[in-house]
Amino acid sequence: MIHMEGVSVVYPDGTRALSGVDLQVDRGEFCFIVGASGSGKSTLLQLLYRELVPTEGRVIIAGQDVAGLPRSRVPMLRRNVGVVFQDFRLLPDKNVWENVAFALDVVGASRREKFRKVPLALELVGLGEKESSLPNQLSGGERQRVSIARALVNNPSILLADEPTGNLDPDISWEIMQLLTNIAERGTTVLCATHDRIIVDGMRKRVVSLVGGTIVRDARGGGGYDEP
Ligand code: ADP
Repeated sequence: MIHMEGVSVVYPDGTRALSGVDLQVDRGEFCFIVGASGSGKSTLLQLLYRELVPTEGRVIIAGQDVAGLPRSRVPMLRRNVGVVFQDFRLLPDKNVWENVAFALDVVGASRREKFRKVPLALELVGLGEKESSLPNQLSGGERQRVSIARALVNNPSILLADEPTGNLDPDISWEIMQLLTNIAERGTTVLCATHDRIIVDGMRKRVVSLVGGTIVRDARGGGGYDEP
């Protein structure tokens, strides 16, 4: 599903954020990307929704070379790749239903499609009852569930989560990780960038470790933050 080969990213100011990254992630796989702040985790995820293109190397998603994608095809890619952030990024003056529907608006979905897909996505994250609430009426965990519903409503092949539990209490963080695990079990490839050792150690999933923009370890069979 995801194939990176010899990928380097150098920002315009000369900062080298990734060097010689090779990574392959299969369909339905759950994979942590771990590393200290500044190790390149966000940069790696940004390549996968084409927020960035690599300076060197190739990024292939579902058989398509992302760098070579014509501008007109980028919306197609973004439909296929959902993204979740630490700070949720919900629209504060729109309710839960509208926040999720927004992801369908931007790809030009019909009203009918929205009425079919939004309830399914909210059901999946366990928020069927909260569709009329505004974000500020929700707990942090519920807000993150809304953002996961929004990321999934287009039925993407890949879900990227950038520090999804960074603003959440430990108990709620576990619930969110359980939800992401269930999503992977349904066949969506999940990449989760984090520096939360306790979560990673507890999950025993695949762990790819970055140090200074280079992959230094890939515990494919599942591991902890530091040890295989
Ligand atoms: P992480 O997500 O692991 O904290 P990042 O991918 O955000 O790491 O950053 C990797 C490196 O690239 C860091 O040295 C960071 O300062 C640098 N960096 C990130 N974004 C930019 C940018 N837009 N311009 C220049 N340097 C950047």
